[in-house]
Amino acid sequence: MLFARAGCKILVLEKHADFFRDFRGDTVHPSTMEILDQLGMLDRFLKRPHSEIRRADLRFGGREWRIADFSRLDTVAPFIAMMPQWDFLDFIREEGKAYPGFNLAMSTPVERFIEENGRVAGVRLRDGRELRSRLVIAADGRTSIARRLLPVEALAAPIDVLWFHVDKEKGPEGGLRFNIGGGAIIVLMDRDTYWQCAFVIPKGQAEKLTASGIGPIRERLAAAAPDLDLSGLSDVSDLKLLSVMLDRMTCWSKPGLLAIGDAAHAMSPIGGVGINLAVQDAVSAANIVSATLARGGDVDHLLDQVRHRRLYPTRFIQRAQKIIQDRIIWPMLSQADRLQRPPLVARLFDRFPALRVIPGRLMGLGVRRERVRSPEVRPRA
Ligand SMILES: Cc1cc2nc3c(=O)[nH]c(=O)nc-3n(C[C@H](O)[C@H](O)[C@H](O)COP(=O)(O)OP(=O)(O)OC[C@H]3O[C@@H](n4cnc5c(N)ncnc54)[C@H](O)[C@@H]3O)c2cc1C
Repeated sequence: MLFARAGCKILVLEKHADFFRDFRGDTVHPSTMEILDQLGMLDRFLKRPHSEIRRADLRFGGREWRIADFSRLDTVAPFIAMMPQWDFLDFIREEGKAYPGFNLAMSTPVERFIEENGRVAGVRLRDGRELRSRLVIAADGRTSIARRLLPVEALAAPIDVLWFHVDKEKGPEGGLRFNIGGGAIIVLMDRDTYWQCAFVIPKGQAEKLTASGIGPIRERLAAAAPDLDLSGLSDVSDLKLLSVMLDRMTCWSKPGLLAIGDAAHAMSPIGGVGINLAVQDAVSAANIVSATLARGGDVDHLLDQVRHRRLYPTRFIQRAQKIIQDRIIWPMLSQADRLQRPPLVARLFDRFPALRVIPGRLMGLGVRRERVRSPEVRPRA
């Protein structure tokens, strides 16, 4: 949308017929809402159905520990807006229609890149058609085709997540809740009429866990979160596995091709930052490349600047995710049934309210926030 706004003619190729993907990043953070605000889209975005998360708590041993506060962030929307990803993407599609250069083709899977004289010159679609372009942006997620051409460095992730949802009484606002107990860790996100739940498990254990049916899993969940109404969880097919990945490309581009978002760096779900980092990459790519592209100039020499700009926040967040998964979640997971008290950081955040702004800020705003600097050359329709 930003490239079309800058006057480029763009075609977004989406392999699915719709954007419907349950349990995908639904967490629109303050950093993304700042971007929407800069584009004059925030009010329209917030009119769409969503719930708002302003704090995070840890429930342990029958007590609640407050560990993060978003409400005190100095930003235009100091909360996490929980909106299904298909609604968010539909919203962007609708907004994109205001620009004549914006085109979107659904049900159009890309098979591979066309390479000519050492450059990516376009894509070949699965139906055999070939589309030529001056720049291909690989925003096709963590199984990106670009990963066949550009090297990826894996950073180990010792956890997987089983997603499910259970009914919840409408309101009052429950925020983000981490529950630990009885050998289980569950993260609950308030979605107004239901809880979106992440059951954190050791990597590769999903099959073993689900083999004995839903009964033993429900017992573990109930031990960690006794107040959850688990009656709707009747079969293991209600649990959706997210195989957690953490990696990044060492080089994000080659002539004619630029990878951004999960394609360039698969994120762990810790902190729910994946979409927001992908949006920041997109803003940065448009800032650096779109004006030259719109003028018809050569952009190959600009592409590595996007990696240069975005590597620091990517590394920073991935390092934080790795520390949390290796030093906090994994020890808790391996001793969850023997834990006597919550981790020290949780006790510190609970004891000193001023400290809670730190996780709120890191999750909500991240580091090296982008501002929209790409031009708007055509007035909105
Ligand atoms: C189960 C799950 C839960 C998650 N939870 C969160 C969360 O709570 N918060 C958060 O911020 N992040 C979360 N993430 C991560 C988040 O979804 C990603 O970080 C974010 O969506 C990355 O955006 P992206 O646009 O780079 O890639 P994606 O969202 O993966 O989008 C890639 C798009 O490219 C399309 N595509 C792929 N291959 C092709 C092809 N060959 N041809 C055409 N189209 C193609 C796909 O259909 C898809 O629409 C979660 C991820 C998963 C898997």
